Amino acid sequence: MTDHNVGGRPAKGAWAKALMVVGADIGGTKVSTVLVDGGGVVRHRTWAEHSARSFDEILAAVGIAVAESIEVADRLGGEVCGFGAAVAAWLSPDRERILVGANIGAGDHDVAGALRRSLGMPVVVENDGNATALAEHWAAGAVSRCLVVLTLGTGVGGGIVMDGRLLSGASGLAGELGHLPVTEAGGLCCCGGRGCLELSASGPAIAAAGGAASTAEVVAAARAGSTEALLALGTAGRAIGVAVSRLVPVVDPDLVVLSGSIAHAASDYLVPAALSALHEDRPLSVVGSAPRVELGRLGPHAAAIGAARLALSQRGMTPATVAARVGGAS
Ligand SMILES: [Zn+2]
Repeated sequence: MTDHNVGGRPAKGAWAKALMVVGADIGGTKVSTVLVDGGGVVRHRTWAEHSARSFDEILAAVGIAVAESIEVADRLGGEVCGFGAAVAAWLSPDRERILVGANIGAGDHDVAGALRRSLGMPVVVENDGNATALAEHWAAGAVSRCLVVLTLGTGVGGGIVMDGRLLSGASGLAGELGHLPVTEAGGLCCCGGRGCLELSASGPAIAAAGGAASTAEVVAAARAGSTEALLALGTAGRAIGVAVSRLVPVVDPDLVVLSGSIAHAASDYLVPAALSALHEDRPLSVVGSAPRVELGRLGPHAAAIGAARLALSQRGMTPATVAARVGGAS
């Protein structure tokens, strides 16, 4: 699926080509990309599903999307000069290697090197939750002093942007907020911990709690008045609120953004439940106000836009904000 704006092509040789970058969101079922110009305007988007049987298949999908973006950039009088990848994986501290990326067919893998060899251009790689946090910070006009993003999908990811910089931690794992413990009674998580947020607020967790095959079914049942579905979404929302409450004394966020498919499908249930839990016994409430909790502004393209933001930075271009609607203002 693609859409783009091909207007405004300059006369041949009239001026130097405008530099553009491609950002990609490499997830467990799809690769989506955005072509972003030096002014922070999204000029083109692509979206392709894959089977995730191997990382080579994903590389091939990325190659097709980038080739299409290069063609569109050329028609727009531009030139693609860099590539950013947001990947659903735990990465090495230098962001060169995937350490664990079971959802995208990759174990220990030289992801940055493979992309550079495949695309023949400068490449920057980041975890998808961190890229989403950068994108939402950018979309909000970069005014938040401490922005926390929670990405709710098949898993729960996250990212923290403090004073405009991504928090990465000693080994690159800061912002893995799906693995913040929120209950003493929780089960064992895939990360080795217990009671993690992901066990309460991921799509599969919500579907299981709601007695349905998917979160979409739970949301539909909730809208029809199902008590079981409402309880499942309320439990997930409260777990999110507890997670935010536990973050308050650690990073003191002023804005918490919920992103990802589950957030966009069920924010009207999740946000009120999260706020309710956040305001019960909230740490530091005698000296500080609670952070705002909002739905993300960039929808499903946030991670790809964040990856493009990193690629722009790598090339020395840092527009103040992003216009996410293709070819124009957001
Ligand atoms: Zn965990």
